[in-house]
Amino acid sequence: MGLSIGVLATRYLWVGVVEGNRLGAVAMYPAPGGDILDLKSLRADEMVSTIRQLIADVRKGEEVSSIGAGFPGIVRNGVIEESPNLGQLKGLPIAAQLEAALEKDCVHAPVTALNDADALAAGIAATKGAMEKLIRVWYLGDGVGFGRYPHSDGVWEAGHSVVSLDPKERFCGCGGLGHLEGIVGNRAIRLRFLDMEPEEVFAASRHGDARAVEFVKRWHRALAAATATSVHLDGPGRFYLAGPNADYVDVELLSMYLQDMVKMSPLQGSHFEIVPTSHDLALIGAAVSATLRSPRVL
Ligand SMILES: [Zn+2]
Repeated sequence: MGLSIGVLATRYLWVGVVEGNRLGAVAMYPAPGGDILDLKSLRADEMVSTIRQLIADVRKGEEVSSIGAGFPGIVRNGVIEESPNLGQLKGLPIAAQLEAALEKDCVHAPVTALNDADALAAGIAATKGAMEKLIRVWYLGDGVGFGRYPHSDGVWEAGHSVVSLDPKERFCGCGGLGHLEGIVGNRAIRLRFLDMEPEEVFAASRHGDARAVEFVKRWHRALAAATATSVHLDGPGRFYLAGPNADYVDVELLSMYLQDMVKMSPLQGSHFEIVPTSHDLALIGAAVSATLRSPRVL
């Protein structure tokens, strides 16, 4: 048996060797402590060649038997069909391109491409020993990712759930009106406040700035609304919160809003839980998904 490798394109490019449900050697680009690079500025071919290099760095000449690679957006049949926050990847047949690039290094492993938040959900399931349960996760960063495990056929772009009918809510990276990401995502917060970074908005809210306080309530209500929609479609359960902006979540407030939005008794009993180190879990999940080769990711 060769190595099982996970790849992730979330803020950085990450590659890790996964043994069982544990993460071994990891390489990232840009390297830790180096410059911060917006992945938007990396051309698709540069991304493929960088991932090839990172895989060479972690495998150290050993054989590879499977590779699972998580990317933001709609990823189906090995193709990144749409990726609002990494537009250069739209239409990229990433699985075939990575396989072709790795052939040059005599790595003949199949590449399974999947949504990065789905990889995270699979990683949570694998490491928490809950492979049978329904796992849902919100990844809160520049955009809003929604991951679900087990994988199931469909699109599942719940980050673009409509949570507002106000036509002025137009800040989503995909261009759609009233979307969750258009309120909760960092890109949208910057467009709304123009002269404030997201962390400044949340800090201003803590200091009682009226506009920021109002926005932070709306931010939580938007996340609760999309969660409520998921509960009404898929039933109640545990919702994990991950990504850099999970730090801003007031779990009590979010739970209160959710309770206001879900009243039918069989649908009660959802919980929120914040997951740290989500990139580790997503790498594990990407690798594990590749070994499972479930219908959604084939
Ligand atoms: Zn959208």
